[in-house]
Amino acid sequence: GKNFLIHIEEEDDVSKNNFFSTLMHEVKNPITAIKGYLKLLELSLDETDGRRKFIYNSLQELERIEGLAKDILLIYKSINCNIQKINLKEVLEQIFDFYEAEMKKRNIDYTLCLSDDVNVMGDRNLLNILFANLLLNAMDAVKEKGFIAVRSTPLENRVLVEFEDNGEGMDEYIKSQLFTPFFTTKEKGTGLGLYLCKKIVENHGGVIYFNSEKGKGTVFYIELPFVNES
Ligand code: ADP
Ligand code: MG
Repeated sequence: GKNFLIHIEEEDDVSKNNFFSTLMHEVKNPITAIKGYLKLLELSLDETDGRRKFIYNSLQELERIEGLAKDILLIYKSINCNIQKINLKEVLEQIFDFYEAEMKKRNIDYTLCLSDDVNVMGDRNLLNILFANLLLNAMDAVKEKGFIAVRSTPLENRVLVEFEDNGEGMDEYIKSQLFTPFFTTKEKGTGLGLYLCKKIVENHGGVIYFNSEKGKGTVFYIELPFVNES
């Protein structure tokens, strides 16, 4: 894989990735064990036992830690990209296919308006994570009933992807904190999604910015370097 962060030595990257992968495994293993024990404990309690709530809450908190561990690992993985020519339309269609049922359930309509031949140099895995994060945020913002629209437009030497939702939008404070790691307004959020998105976009030589209006909706703009077919 080609390394996009030129100022970091290849060797440092590898050891950094190994260190964080190992750390995350070391965090996940005990969590898995604790979850197992909690479930056993739950089985030993009566259906009506009020203490079941403690177990439920503990499991929720453990899931939070798992979510954090997953996002942190992804952030460190985003340093090492496996760069190939990627068709953006394919990537986006796949993601929307994956979440289609969930959107249908929540009455969220979507439209994709994607150029056929828009290719970028990128890491498929990381681009998936980038757009999945934006989609999940849009779905959270819309909650139920609403729309999400994605457009891709080839510009001179780059591709512009617009990711729009008519969800709750953001106030000035949220806007100012958006890309700050661990900033979240959600009960179950990690606040790492957009921080990760920004890292991925920047590691691909692109930029990400947004426009949002409280009560109206949000558009994220992503510009990525364009690859010519020839
Ligand atoms: P998380 O989703 O875990 O909260 P993110 O980094 O993905 O973390 O997002 C940070 C915060 O930015 C969210 O908690 C939310 O308040 C706000 N946000 C992100 N995307 C949108 C959006 N499409 N519409 C409204 N608010 C958003
Ligand atoms: Mg998110």
